[in-house]
Amino acid sequence: MKVAFLGLGSIGTPMARHLAVEPFELTVWNRTTDKARAFAKACSVKWAETAAQAVREAEFVITCLPSSVEVEGLFDEGSRFEEALREGSLFVDCTSGDPATSHRLASRLSAKRISFVDAPVSGGVKGGESGTLTVMCGGDEDAVERARPLLSAFGKKIVRCGGVGAGDAVKAMNQALLGIHIWSAGEALAVLARLGVDASVALDVINGSSGRSNASENLFPERVIGRAYPKTFKIALLDKDLSIAASIAAENDVPAPFIELAAQLYREAHDILGGDADHVEAVKVIEQRAGVRVS
Ligand code: NDP
Repeated sequence: MKVAFLGLGSIGTPMARHLAVEPFELTVWNRTTDKARAFAKACSVKWAETAAQAVREAEFVITCLPSSVEVEGLFDEGSRFEEALREGSLFVDCTSGDPATSHRLASRLSAKRISFVDAPVSGGVKGGESGTLTVMCGGDEDAVERARPLLSAFGKKIVRCGGVGAGDAVKAMNQALLGIHIWSAGEALAVLARLGVDASVALDVINGSSGRSNASENLFPERVIGRAYPKTFKIALLDKDLSIAASIAAENDVPAPFIELAAQLYREAHDILGGDADHVEAVKVIEQRAGVRVS
């Protein structure tokens, strides 16, 4: 199975590693070519200088870029990308993208009998490394089934959510929940810190109670207590995800004040902390505004 993987970022790199084994024949491409060259050397696979060269032979193309804007950007005039795509191949976009762009790409590709599946992932860098990501797919049933062997290489739970764009939509809503859980847990711990309650004690209680979440059970103990804040998922990307979630709600006439507020708060946190901060560092903004340290 000839696979081209485009985008060796924080999550793309561990995902691509699972495709560097038989029965896959992998070619990687990355905007910064040094990363592609180093990956190819370490994993004994091919690398390409341009995205067009990477996809020329590929039966399967996987993209994992920051947003749909960069995925659509591959098709820019002069890139020779579109003409290099093989007729009848399958295009799987693992970017956390937006449904409108995925629809546009799917119809553009259908002219060359290329099927499109939006297949964003969840589970973080750890899930990418262990091959246990959740993959939420949007596309025709046949296309999702064709993609399944590839997705199974790095994913454990692979679910078709609906037609093209449905994977993006589910991912955006998942991210809205993630953002809300982090922010609300941060606020709760800031209030408790002001009252003199230790964050570890508070988390111990909350994690045995009904207010617990992935944020309180995993992210806060790992990153906020001890203030480690490893950079695994940029706040710029969560800002992007929340803005997609808010747009989907607005475009579909669903009042979603929580999601809109979360989008606004993460936009502000992104501006304050800079795009390269980790998403959990949003807690620092809560602390700044409250004038209190959570831990
Ligand atoms: P990173 O910022 O770590 O990597 C982004 C990748 O996109 C890099 O390979 C970068 O290349 C490339 N890139 C950036 N801009 C362009 C461009 N204009 N043209 C071509 N390539 C470009 O992002 P992640 O790997 O963290 O995220 C990728 C996707 O996966 C995002 O949609 C994110 O929301 C999603 N995601 C991320 C998770 C995580 O834990 N990190 C978890 C789940 C989903 P270069 O090396 O040259 O900068």
